[in-house]
Amino acid sequence: MSLETLMNIVSIDEKCENEDTFEMISYFNDIAGNDLFSFISFQSIGYEEDRFNKLIKILKEHDYVTEYFSYECELYEATELSENLPFYCEYCNKEVCIPDIHHIITLSYILSESFSAEINDYRVNLRTKYIHKDFLINFNNLKKDKNNIVPFLGSGISTPFRLPNWKKMFLDMSEYVIEEEQTYYKNLVEKGEFFKAITFMLKGHSRSFSTEKQIQQHIARLFSSPNLAIDEKSHNMMDIANINCEFFLTSNYDSILNEFITRPHPNPLCINDIEDVPSFFRERKKRVVHIHGIIDRPSTMIVTEENYNDLYNNVEFMNRLKAIFSHKKLVFIGFSFDDAFFSEFYRNIIASLGGEHYLIAANVHPFSSDEFNNNNLKTISLNLPINYSGQEYVNALRFVLQDLYK
Ligand SMILES: [Zn+2]
Repeated sequence: MSLETLMNIVSIDEKCENEDTFEMISYFNDIAGNDLFSFISFQSIGYEEDRFNKLIKILKEHDYVTEYFSYECELYEATELSENLPFYCEYCNKEVCIPDIHHIITLSYILSESFSAEINDYRVNLRTKYIHKDFLINFNNLKKDKNNIVPFLGSGISTPFRLPNWKKMFLDMSEYVIEEEQTYYKNLVEKGEFFKAITFMLKGHSRSFSTEKQIQQHIARLFSSPNLAIDEKSHNMMDIANINCEFFLTSNYDSILNEFITRPHPNPLCINDIEDVPSFFRERKKRVVHIHGIIDRPSTMIVTEENYNDLYNNVEFMNRLKAIFSHKKLVFIGFSFDDAFFSEFYRNIIASLGGEHYLIAANVHPFSSDEFNNNNLKTISLNLPINYSGQEYVNALRFVLQDLYK
């Protein structure tokens, strides 16, 4: 019997997709490991007994697991294993059977070696399915760096919660620009000059907005009601929260990620809230650090070209950011680098500090990846259909983030 057959049976049983089944089975394999295990190790992580027994039954039928009776002799305080019942205790010579007053009997299991080998083969296949072959080497290097990474998160991770996509949000705001200047405004947005577009709007080209505070409040409203009730398979927040890192950086205003970090949720920070960078690195609270402000504090939100220039000319801000860029490998996720200001900042920081970072993005064109590479940004291109759905992106990203630690 092959792993494929087993997965088909489990998929039908659990009414789930093949890849969810693989995730479930490989998780089971991670918990069980190569040693003797019993339900107790699964109970402690919240596994239900019925589910455990069902899976064990299927694994047994496929010879992927051997069942043992592990028994403790109360008279001699010793533990032994046997494949069959009844038999005679090695210590007290009494018969071991069910029910038994002198022995505590626990059903225990050992997974076969071929099981983890087949799981590994299956994972390698999925890896080549999800990551374009030319980029596997970058992924393997990221794996080597996995204990020194800081995820840098963009708006792509929040869109499943029905929050605006960064570029689209600025485009939608064109309706507040007076009619004869809308084309000019939209052109700025198309070029990635988002903050410049807002500055342009505020210079007398809108009858609705004339101050940066109004823009901050408008954007804060757009981001104020994420739909947090969506299915956990339809977004990547848990996968991101599980990344082994000291903290997260984000240019997002929303603080959804914070909801998914193990309770008690640490307070999200703006970068200038960090008082002492070295002790912040050691803190390991998985805080989310916002570089462009947080919606709960609208006045911190960077929305105009002037805000942006002030921030990036702020010595303390730049020193903190440079400390992070020079000590950590950043992994850009949900980021498209279509923000001209940020791209320029990134190029400048690399020119002055050097260092290599990573970008995980869907269907990156070789031309773009060469350009990223010129700026020491190593691309991991997710291999997706041309008109991929949000869910396809989420699935591929989930696999890659989990695969980092396998
Ligand atoms: Zn005994």
